[in-house]
Amino acid sequence: MSTQKPERHEFQAEVKQVLDIVVHSLYTDKEIFVRELISNASDATEKLRHTQLSEKDIFDADLDLEIQVTSDEETGTITIQDFGIGMTHAELIENLGTIAHSGSKAFLNALKADGERNENLIGQFGVGFYSVFMVADSVKVYTRTWQLEGDCLCWSSNGDGAYEIEQVEDVRRGTRIVFVLKDEYKEFAQKDKLEGIIKRYSSFVQFPIKVDGDEFKTVQALWLKGKSDITDEEYKEFYKFQANAFDDPRFWLHFAADAPISINTLLFAPTENQESFGFGRMEPGVALYCRKVLIDSEPKNLLPDWLRFVRGVVDSADLPLNISRESMQDSALIQKLNKVITKRFLKTLEEKAKKEPEVYNDFLEVLRRLPQRRCHHRLYAPRPVA
Ligand code: ADP
Ligand code: MG
Repeated sequence: MSTQKPERHEFQAEVKQVLDIVVHSLYTDKEIFVRELISNASDATEKLRHTQLSEKDIFDADLDLEIQVTSDEETGTITIQDFGIGMTHAELIENLGTIAHSGSKAFLNALKADGERNENLIGQFGVGFYSVFMVADSVKVYTRTWQLEGDCLCWSSNGDGAYEIEQVEDVRRGTRIVFVLKDEYKEFAQKDKLEGIIKRYSSFVQFPIKVDGDEFKTVQALWLKGKSDITDEEYKEFYKFQANAFDDPRFWLHFAADAPISINTLLFAPTENQESFGFGRMEPGVALYCRKVLIDSEPKNLLPDWLRFVRGVVDSADLPLNISRESMQDSALIQKLNKVITKRFLKTLEEKAKKEPEVYNDFLEVLRRLPQRRCHHRLYAPRPVA
């Protein structure tokens, strides 16, 4: 392709539908666009790392694999740059102009099944890249494929039915997304605001993230590592980070399962039960992730009510595709997860009763002090052990 004027393309009908919903949605957590763009950057970087294993000829081979976020509060501009695989001309059309990819497709299916415009679905599925149009009127995507032969391209759109692709110059390998926030969302360009959002959703991204040049502290996704590679200190530190806690955990439970559903789980029993200090009823605090990206920090029904003071992480790679009709909180999938996790938790309690009765008794004490405990689980009949 030689340098020429921008080509104009129509979005596929389904994309228009998603864009229309996203742009006009009343969905309140607009900030998830950060999560979506950073997870795309991370996916693209991960793919590059993978490609490096098998391919010798890689464009811009010496770039550091990091994600750079920059913001300009004055103009309300945010830039998110990765040095991942980038996109060719055909890939741009396929990936950003059609709905060939998972997240938005699942969103549309759920929407159809639901029969109405459910704003909440946006949060659950992310609607991926298109979520940026919730906060920005115009978006530019500069990209250069990892392949030696390739063009420097700029994709741009106002989210209104069409996009343009133009040849440009001097784009590094990977993708740089630049957008100007709508007036009412300019606050997202404040550095501390951005860092807060990244901390909430993207702390476990495995590549360094820089915000306005400063390295952002990412955290290892401990739940995906092998138990034997983790020290007790690391577990305790992770608990404090994840639960925003100051105590040490009484014990933890770390397991992976493939059937009936693929999960990696790390749960902590706190030393203290905050409800007993008169802080009011605790909200569930076991967060739900899909491949290290936060889906919901306080999902209801993931654990039984009497375990509401337990903290930790459940990560399921099966998550986005399996969610169907019902809203996620009552879905069969959550029930399945609940069952698997509760069973493992009770099994751990039994083991503690045998091997570490003092830990078990302490835990019972925490349970006993739950002011409004309701536990009808047939397996659950803990008694102190001598
Ligand atoms: P999903 O991530 O669920 O596939 P998205 O809407 O977030 O859906 O992204 C659509 C597609 O666009 C991705 O699957 C990917 O192929 C491509 N894409 C998005 N962002 C990037 C990026 N930073 N680098 C390379 N490709 C990207
Ligand atoms: Mg995505």
